[in-house]
Amino acid sequence: MIVNIMSNTSISNKSIIVLSKEELSKLGHDPMPALKAIRLHCIDCVSGVSKVRTCSITKCSSFPFRLGNNPYRSTSTDKDETLSHLSTLGHTPMSPREALQLTCLDCCRGDKKEVSHCSAIGCPSWPFRVGPGPYQKPITEAQKAARRTNLSKSP
Ligand code: SF4
Repeated sequence: MIVNIMSNTSISNKSIIVLSKEELSKLGHDPMPALKAIRLHCIDCVSGVSKVRTCSITKCSSFPFRLGNNPYRSTSTDKDETLSHLSTLGHTPMSPREALQLTCLDCCRGDKKEVSHCSAIGCPSWPFRVGPGPYQKPITEAQKAARRTNLSKSP
């Protein structure tokens, strides 16, 4: 169940920008990957599962991910053809979370502040609209060290 933020007294307006997993759960958001959130957003956007496939808003940042899979990580034999088609439509490789955040930005007419303070908490994209994503596992010290090593190797 999604509750209206204004009627929820346990979460202050100050903390609305980024919420913990537990706080999101209280608002009715179950943990899910950004890809699934895009899929739910798309179904909502066109009012039906069957219409998502035929969405004609090809410039929407969520378009490449609308069917619930990531074409940039696909192992399908037609991957090259799909990526070439997406490139023709103006899409560049990005993660589902990045695409979702661009869709939010578009929804808020390009105003990042408005995205941060978005009050549409029932939107499946809401938990992901800012930051690294609420369900992201914190990176370990070993991962941080590996990233530092990779950065020092880059030209
Ligand atoms: S790709 Fe964009 S416009 Fe199309 S259904 Fe998804 S959110 Fe809506």
